[in-house]
Amino acid sequence: MEWTKGRTIGRGSCATVSAATYHNSCDIIAVKSAELSRSELLEREAKILSSLSSPYVVGYRGCGITNNPDGVDTYSILMEYAPYGTVADKAAKNGGGLEENLVVKYTRHILCGLEYLHSKGIAHCDIKGSNVLIGENGDAKIADFGCAKRVDTESDSAETVRGTPAFMAPEVARGEKQGMESDIWAVGCTVIEMATGSLPWTIDSGDPVSVLYRIGYSGESPEIPCCLTEPTKDFLQKCLKRHPEERWTANQLLNHPFLAKPDAKSDPVSGSMSNSPTSVMDELFWGSVEEAEEEENLDRPNGWVSHEERIGRLWSVGNAGPTWDLEGGDWVTVRKRCDRTLIGGSIRI
Ligand code: ATP
Repeated sequence: MEWTKGRTIGRGSCATVSAATYHNSCDIIAVKSAELSRSELLEREAKILSSLSSPYVVGYRGCGITNNPDGVDTYSILMEYAPYGTVADKAAKNGGGLEENLVVKYTRHILCGLEYLHSKGIAHCDIKGSNVLIGENGDAKIADFGCAKRVDTESDSAETVRGTPAFMAPEVARGEKQGMESDIWAVGCTVIEMATGSLPWTIDSGDPVSVLYRIGYSGESPEIPCCLTEPTKDFLQKCLKRHPEERWTANQLLNHPFLAKPDAKSDPVSGSMSNSPTSVMDELFWGSVEEAEEEENLDRPNGWVSHEERIGRLWSVGNAGPTWDLEGGDWVTVRKRCDRTLIGGSIRI
C-alpha cells in the first residue's frame, strides 16, 4: 500500500521515525527509515519484527525501499503508530517518576511482551524506558528490535554485545553472554527508571567504557531507591541478581506480589495524576508535604491549613502542573514536543 511520510516523531542512533498515512485510508502509521546503504540493522529489525505478533510488541505493517528524487534510496519499516510517546518520556515529564499503578501496569505489559519473545527464543537485548511505547489503548509495547537476537542460533562474542550501557547486565558488560536473563536485569533497571524518572546507576562519567567496567566488575547492582514500597524492592532484587541464573524468569515475575494489583485505569494521554499520593514513593511524597506544612504552620494556631492552600501545595510538590498543550493544534506537534523531553542518552556499542 502507498503511504506518505509526515512529521518526524523520533530519532535514534540508526534511523529516523516519522508519522505517515496510507493513501487509501486515514490510518496513521510510524515509519522508521535509514539510508539504504546503512540499513543493515533496520533490515535485521524488520526480519525479527515481521515474525512477531503480540499486543505487547509494536505491530509490524511491512517494509520497503523508497527511490527518492535526490538519488538517496531509503529502507523503511512500517509499524503500528504509538501516539503517547515512551514510558521514559512520561516518567521524565512527571518530574520524579510514575505513580505505582502505572509502574505496575507497564511492568506487567513489558513482562508479557518478554514472556512472548522469550518463548520464541528471542532476546530483545535493549530493554529500557525509551524503547517501550505507549499504544492507542494505553498499553505498553516493546519496540526497537535493532539489537534483538535469536538466542539459539546467534552465538555471543565481545564484538556483538548490544544495548545501552546503563541497562546492561554484568555478564553483558563483561562481554560474556547476552540472553533472556539479561533482558530481566534490564527490566529491573527500567522499573527504577519508571519509578524515579532517572536512569539506574549514578553515572557521572559520559565514558561508556568506565560505565561498563563498573557494571561488569564492581560487584555492585544499581541502587534500589529506599523510598520504594517493599514489594517493589523485592521485585527489583529478583531482577537485579548479578548471577544471571539466579534471576527470575518473565513468567515467574508476572506472578510476583508487586504485579498483583489490577491495571491502572488511567487516561493514556496524561497517564497519571502526577502528584498522586498513591505513588511508589508515597512515604517520600507525604513526608515532603508534611515537612513543608510543619515549617510554615509553626506560627499559626492549631496549624490550620485551608483546603485551597493544601491543594495548592500538592500541586507544586515535584511537578510544575499539568501538561495540557493546546496551542500547537494538531497531534503531531504535541508528539514532537514529547520527544524533546527524552532523558539520558543511549550509547550503542
Ligand atoms: P536507539 O538509538 O535508541 O536504538 P533507534 O534508532 O533504534 O533508537 P527507535 O528507538 O526505534 O530508534 O525510535 C526512536 C524514537 O522514535 C522512539 O524513542 C520513539 O520516540 C519514536 N518511535 C519509534 N517507534 C515508534 C512508533 N511505532 N510509534 C510512535 N513513535 C515511535
